[in-house]
Amino acid sequence: MAYIAILTLRQIACDKASTERSATMTAPITQDVLTIPRKLPEGVRINLVGLTRPQLRDALIAAGTPEKQAKMRVGQIWQWVYYWGVRDFARMTNLAKDYRALLADRFEIVLPELVSRQISADGTRKYLVRIAGGHEVEVVYIPEEGRGTLCISSQVGCTLTCSFCHTGTQKLVRNLTAGEIVGQVMLARDDLGEWPEPGEGAGADRLVSNVVLMGMGEPLYNFDAVRDAMGIVMDGEGIALGRRRITLSTSGVVPEIARCATEIGCQLAISFHATTDEVRDQLVPINKRWNIKALLDTLREYPRLSNSERITFEYVMLKGVNDSDADARRLVKLIAGIPAKINLIPFNEWPGSPYERSDWERIEAFADIIYKAGYASPIRTPRGEDIMAACGQLKSATERARKTRPDPRAMP
Ligand code: SF4
Repeated sequence: MAYIAILTLRQIACDKASTERSATMTAPITQDVLTIPRKLPEGVRINLVGLTRPQLRDALIAAGTPEKQAKMRVGQIWQWVYYWGVRDFARMTNLAKDYRALLADRFEIVLPELVSRQISADGTRKYLVRIAGGHEVEVVYIPEEGRGTLCISSQVGCTLTCSFCHTGTQKLVRNLTAGEIVGQVMLARDDLGEWPEPGEGAGADRLVSNVVLMGMGEPLYNFDAVRDAMGIVMDGEGIALGRRRITLSTSGVVPEIARCATEIGCQLAISFHATTDEVRDQLVPINKRWNIKALLDTLREYPRLSNSERITFEYVMLKGVNDSDADARRLVKLIAGIPAKINLIPFNEWPGSPYERSDWERIEAFADIIYKAGYASPIRTPRGEDIMAACGQLKSATERARKTRPDPRAMP
């Protein structure tokens, strides 16, 4: 993938204008489609991590695999890489020795670099991961009773400037490739020792049982890579996480939302956070482009909308900003008719953050109104606060270490 320039997805770094802090209207960053040449250039190794099955097939054929064998080889290699977690072709013992040598000559299996790991008092793990170009993203693993959720990133920084979100203060550097997104899941499985030994079955209790695209970046602005990466994570012969165990969270990129259902099939969450356009314009500035009505109209048409596949509305609780009883009642009215669940998120402060967390009684009163209106309204327990791993606190460590810039944003 991006580690080898010549055959990788070429990341189009956003131009200067698109990374301005006022970039709420920024168009999605485009990414070249990965095309495998018919013949691989000499002296170049392709990273297999992040290739879709068709891309892997093309790559194997380009390396000299007979077309008739290609499908079978894809299946074998896929299982080694994504089921057993093997990174060394020499260990792929169901392949002939000379074919393994050919693979080692033309390909590699490389993950992003794990730079550091912090473990919170509550068991939450935060990983700092370095990708090609020396950029860094954060990944968070949250263990809970009977499940483990991995929160992964899709971009380095973010073009959007949600004013409650630490990542939003870090300008967008680039989109991640599919390999860098899948690589985060694989790194976490490495760290947790979750790969089964070759010959053994995977354990019934999964340590990484759920994946949420709620880390750094707006996933719908990096759609193709996210789609390909989640396709790999869901593939039943590899990591095999069911589509209902994957949740994509968007701030509201309206034109791309339906594709989440039709092309990925995972669960959808909306970073909602306000009940009037006036307040949402401040909290989630993409609202100036697609306002609450446009967003909700799109959600009412969402292809997978049903009681069994409810949309999650995320709502960060900000003291005196969006946490009144009137807000709760408005929220219920706004989402009427949409099978939904509302996740209430006590605000997690970060250095320079312009907001305060709502008082606990206020959060409970807000939750109660929503609950009585017939919606599940769980209050998310803050996790990993002591290591700045909680929701909305992620930011590349290198960025965080830079001199804190004055924050020009403030609620009116
Ligand atoms: S909440 Fe999401 S979309 Fe908004 S600034 Fe943070 S990372 Fe970007």
